[in-house]
Amino acid sequence: MSLRVAGLINESLVDGPGIRFVLFAQGCPLRCPGCHNPEAADPRGGVEMSLAEILARIKGVRGIDGVTFSGGEPFYQAEPLARLGKEILRLGLNLVIYSGYTFAELLERGRREEGTARLLSCGWLLVEGSYREEERDLSLPFRGSRNQRILDLPSSLEQGAAIEWKQEER
Ligand code: SF4
Repeated sequence: MSLRVAGLINESLVDGPGIRFVLFAQGCPLRCPGCHNPEAADPRGGVEMSLAEILARIKGVRGIDGVTFSGGEPFYQAEPLARLGKEILRLGLNLVIYSGYTFAELLERGRREEGTARLLSCGWLLVEGSYREEERDLSLPFRGSRNQRILDLPSSLEQGAAIEWKQEER
């Protein structure tokens, strides 16, 4: 199985807590004004990579705390990313997922699409909501605008409602 990838970063400190490998998924149906990554919007852009190839690259990076799926819109390719997410958990790494959709929207979508439900179930944190230029705030950790929230995904799924992540709980 493969997916379209906009880019990979071996080590990032700004895409979630700790040192993280980041996968920027290609393709996003949203058109947020001031989008931080407009070249990732076209679903036919980027490069096609197999899950095995990406996994090998992740395994080759030493000392990371986890992996982040960013974009583009990761849930646009939920099925392959859910499979990759499962393998990432098997490596003992945690998973942070960024999405332009809110948790409530993804929960609803997950009732219709198995890939979305499975991808949600792999995540530790969800940075939810699309970037809004009018709420831009560069002082916020791991996100670009004030409407975006960092959710504790397992707790949110258990409660069926968005539960914000408290940093000290890490
Ligand atoms: S969701 Fe993210 S990638 Fe998609 S248009 Fe909005 S800011 Fe850009």
